Amino acid sequence: MPLQIDVLTLFPRMLDGFLAESILGKAIEAGRLGVTVHDLRAWCTDKHKTADDRPFGGGAGMVMKPEPVVAAIEQLQTPGCRRIYLTPDGVPFSEKLARELSTERHLVFLSGHYEGIDQRIRDTVIDQEISIGDYVLTNGTLPAAVVIDALARFIPGVLGDENSLTHESFTGRLLDFPQYTRPAEFRGQSVPKVLLSGNHAEIEKWRHAKRVEKTRLVRPDLLQLPTPPLPS
Ligand code: SAM
Repeated sequence: MPLQIDVLTLFPRMLDGFLAESILGKAIEAGRLGVTVHDLRAWCTDKHKTADDRPFGGGAGMVMKPEPVVAAIEQLQTPGCRRIYLTPDGVPFSEKLARELSTERHLVFLSGHYEGIDQRIRDTVIDQEISIGDYVLTNGTLPAAVVIDALARFIPGVLGDENSLTHESFTGRLLDFPQYTRPAEFRGQSVPKVLLSGNHAEIEKWRHAKRVEKTRLVRPDLLQLPTPPLPS
């Protein structure tokens, strides 16, 4: 059985294009994974379909109410599934986590909105909390899309060329090397000669050196080198 993913959001249409286009669209069409997007308001039972309320203790903004969210997750969950809340205070998302999630059987993603969700939702129906970066977005639908896109790449058959996975940024703690395609000359800029040489050993050596150079410059933390001081 391919991986099944349920996404719970107040903005289901945000994912329409994402799920229909490109590599992910093709993977879903080919049945390599299944993604169902659910409108959380379907579980809001009052006549105004209220999903949020004011925070106890005061403060700005609104908080997502527990009843509809917990009812939705309890309806969608299956034994052994992983229920994930996207949130800026979650564990940082990574390639490692994407690979791990790609091996699951069933994932349920919860997207928050407003100031976030009632803590009791997190305490009762959430197994893992994931952040896609140290910044705050208006809702968790794009973060859910980011996680789905990254994990889908690890599902066998989703990427046409499985080698694409072995030479990517973060593989072996290095960023990717620079890529070039035709024309060999563009606005006075030439493609590095080694790439035209046909010498595969030399090309590999050059690419590795470029990966190390880029990583040292942009992400020294990946090489476990001290970060250079910021310019004052
Ligand atoms: N008050 C929350 C905080 O400071 O942690 C932020 C709430 S944010 C405005 C609304 C929703 O967007 C969150 O519930 C979460 O689902 C989503 N979100 C925002 N930034 C995110 C991030 N970096 N990673 C994952 N989800 C995020």
